[in-house]
Amino acid sequence: MWGLARQERVGYNPFCMRFIEPHAHMVSRTTDDYADMATAGCVALCEPAFWAGFDRGSADGFRDYFRQLTEVEPRRAANYGIKHYTWLCINPKESEDMSLAADVLSVIPEFLDCPNVLGIGEIGLNKNSRNEIKVLQQHVDLAAANDQLILVHTPHLEDKYKGTRLILDVLKHDSRIDPERVMIDHVEEHTIGMVLDAGHWGGMTLYPESKCSPARAIDMVERFGSDRLWWDAACDWGPSVPLAVPRTACEMRRRGHEEKLIEKVIFENPKQFLSQCERFQMDCA
Ligand SMILES: [Zn+2]
Repeated sequence: MWGLARQERVGYNPFCMRFIEPHAHMVSRTTDDYADMATAGCVALCEPAFWAGFDRGSADGFRDYFRQLTEVEPRRAANYGIKHYTWLCINPKESEDMSLAADVLSVIPEFLDCPNVLGIGEIGLNKNSRNEIKVLQQHVDLAAANDQLILVHTPHLEDKYKGTRLILDVLKHDSRIDPERVMIDHVEEHTIGMVLDAGHWGGMTLYPESKCSPARAIDMVERFGSDRLWWDAACDWGPSVPLAVPRTACEMRRRGHEEKLIEKVIFENPKQFLSQCERFQMDCA
């Protein structure tokens, strides 16, 4: 596709790429990453609560983390003109400890009225254990009782298919949950169909080593269509690339896709899902 004159490509403007990074753990990232993302066209990012790189010893550790997500990171992001939003929960990795989970669940309501909180997440499963499932149900109950959006983490590799099935069952059995208000993240080829069929949104996480490569992510858009899907980079403690979304957009251009479709996947779709929470506001049209 690079063989064509650039002006012949529909809607192509090399100076205008804007994107929303809908899943980024910026507490693990430097200000250089914020600067690079802003330079590449990132206008907003969303930071789900997750593992902090170590197991926390008490609910107070989570209270401090929630302050970081609702007070500190929004200021850091604002320095680069990026809007920062967040999601709150005790992640599945640490929710094996039911007593700690109960304590953290009781702290979350203190933060639900913060201006950058979009909902409950990233909840879900890690090893598909009984305790994890119970804590998942408790989070779903908290979200339903407070009319919150939900962001779900699905397990890695060999646990993903079974874990995704279990998560979909938990969501289906709570009649208060509107499937369109739930994003199931880290989908892959063998789980994306069941997620979309259940009426949820699906997120593809672009990772250098596992989860989903740029080529596979574009293949999935070509195969399953572009509705109710987004891409994210995770930007976490492990090997991850904060510019994975715009780089994948460039690969989509190289394949010859129209600008309108690219913008839908990297900007309009996340905007549509996230705008179901009235706190999510984009100044640009
Ligand atoms: Zn995450």
